[in-house]
Amino acid sequence: MTIVVKLFVLKGASKLDENGLVKVTPELLVEGLEHVYAIGDCCNTDQEKMAAHAQNQGESVCRNIALALAGSEKRPYKPSESTTYKSSACGDHR
Ligand SMILES: Cc1cc2nc3c(=O)[nH]c(=O)nc-3n(C[C@H](O)[C@H](O)[C@H](O)COP(=O)(O)OP(=O)(O)OC[C@H]3O[C@@H](n4cnc5c(N)ncnc54)[C@H](O)[C@@H]3O)c2cc1C
Repeated sequence: MTIVVKLFVLKGASKLDENGLVKVTPELLVEGLEHVYAIGDCCNTDQEKMAAHAQNQGESVCRNIALALAGSEKRPYKPSESTTYKSSACGDHR
């Protein structure tokens, strides 16, 4: 299931940074919201805007939702080494 929160809603609630990106916590929660996550190009992680990162972020959010449902602590998102490799392979670190 995909939930799209219109950016103007987040803007009105000061959830966007100066570049118009959604401000997220290390767990990829939208800052100040308990159950709303943001992943991919729209969020203000310091990673490059790449599909590989978006996919890894999605997997991290799925794990955190499962942990939350089990009553456990959410974990910060950690970029995987394979993602770094994919970025290099795309020529982003020249
Ligand atoms: C030319 C180009 C080449 C690229 N090459 C690579 C590459 O080689 N490797 C790589 O890893 N990444 C690459 N990227 C980056 C990659 O495409 C993005 O990082 C990735 O698609 C981000 O995924 P996303 O889900 O965050 O956003 P998107 O893929 O942009 O998906 C957002 C979706 O939300 C939909 N949407 C928007 N607003 C609404 C709304 N209000 N209601 C409902 N739906 C809405 C859009 O139609 C879209 O389908 C490239 C990007 C570009 C532009």
